[in-house]
Amino acid sequence: MIKNAYLNRVYEELALRNAHEPEYLQAVKEVLESIQPLVEKHPEYEKADLIERLVEPERIITFRVPWVDDSGNVHVNRGYRVQFNSAIGPYKGGLRFHPSVNQSILKFLGFEQVFKNSLTTLPMGGGKGGSDFDPKGKSDMEVMRFCQSFMTELYRHIGQFVDCPAGDIGVGAREVGYMFGQYRRLTNSYQGGMMTGKGLTYGGSLARKQATGYGLCYFTAEALKCMRNDSFAGKKVVISGSGNVAIYAAEKAAQLGGTVITMSDSAGYVYDPNGIDLDYVKDLKEVRRGRISEYTTSHPDATYVADCRKVWETPCDIALPCATQNEIDAESAKALVKGGCTVVCEGANMPSTAEAISVYLENGILYGPAKASNAGGVATSGLEMSQNSERLSWTFEEVDSKLQEIMKGIFHASYDASVEAGSTGNLMVGANCAGFLKVATAMMEQGICY
Ligand code: NDP
Repeated sequence: MIKNAYLNRVYEELALRNAHEPEYLQAVKEVLESIQPLVEKHPEYEKADLIERLVEPERIITFRVPWVDDSGNVHVNRGYRVQFNSAIGPYKGGLRFHPSVNQSILKFLGFEQVFKNSLTTLPMGGGKGGSDFDPKGKSDMEVMRFCQSFMTELYRHIGQFVDCPAGDIGVGAREVGYMFGQYRRLTNSYQGGMMTGKGLTYGGSLARKQATGYGLCYFTAEALKCMRNDSFAGKKVVISGSGNVAIYAAEKAAQLGGTVITMSDSAGYVYDPNGIDLDYVKDLKEVRRGRISEYTTSHPDATYVADCRKVWETPCDIALPCATQNEIDAESAKALVKGGCTVVCEGANMPSTAEAISVYLENGILYGPAKASNAGGVATSGLEMSQNSERLSWTFEEVDSKLQEIMKGIFHASYDASVEAGSTGNLMVGANCAGFLKVATAMMEQGICY
């Protein structure tokens, strides 16, 4: 609940003006609830209308993306870039290609990104973009033509010192490559840091592909160690999704001694009591671009359930949601508690509804909120930009060890801020407060320019 009168007024006005943007309002409400102690401690924020400015994106660009399929038919999708906040660095955040993409989803993602990027300690502002284009079932040439058309408008709004996109749902190395190539052609300039998640032959960073999933497990492991004196060893781990984040979360969870027993896609989930065969999933998803249901054809002990929401009914110790927003509601959260789960750390952005988070907190679940626990992806994108600026490439081990330090640092910053805010151990409150304070200070020091 927002008790502070100033924050409540800002939220009520925002809700009236953006009534048709539920995901965005959900993300803002969570942050405003968390930062109440800080706003009370700093009355100067209200005098400077700081929160009003913080919740309004600096700029939103919407554009037409026409493209031609392999049969010569013309299609038109809608493209977006939400440039949310550049107080601490150029806008940075992924591009999502998925039919569900709309302004509300990109505003929530851009807003979250502001605080997440702040937590990494690297100089990156927050943004997000994408399109309602669905790459599923499209040929490589169709995806290429779409990406080139998308970049033909986007290029004039981005650049290494302005706005630096990356991947997200539906945007992996293939799409980043096509977009980077088109940017280079249109601008006649080679700006390595303009985009991250690049291929290794043209400025990509080792360990970027693994970073979000590995980082999630580094964060979880540090939280388990410090808050529970425990580890992944011997734990049953339920993971949703089977994309980039899910695959590398599963890999690291297994390396740290856990047994990953589920993975899913939007059609359903597989349960393998022997532990998910990751080599198979990598080939299925990264090479063949197939469906997770195919897993059972070569794994006779595994079962497939054609309802991805039921994955949370699988008894486990640790849950790592790695698919999409609001994939765990109160009912699914209760199912997790019933199945013995005591740790939920988020790989996806905002995968838990507000009601689900209440269930976690009421039941003493160790809850790692996305903006802290999945920040490893963007942190390593920041490291990719550093390497591009230096004109150097670091080894996998160098990048991975920096990632580990950053994720440990994010856990401790979140934990310490939770203590400071009077909510010891509530990492959601802590992450929101720690992420907010740096951005707020930067905005105050730079005057009312934005
Ligand atoms: P991918 O496109 O690689 O994979 C997405 C996975 O989630 C797929 O298995 C997909 O299944 C599933 N999924 C997508 N939409 C839905 C839906 N509506 N319901 C159920 N399942 C769904 O994306 P990423 O792995 O990159 O991203 C996953 C999450 O992690 C997102 O929330 C993203 O914002 C977040 N994230 C990603 C980062 C990155 O570095 N890539 C960084 C930080 C956060 P299907 O194939 O059926 O669509």
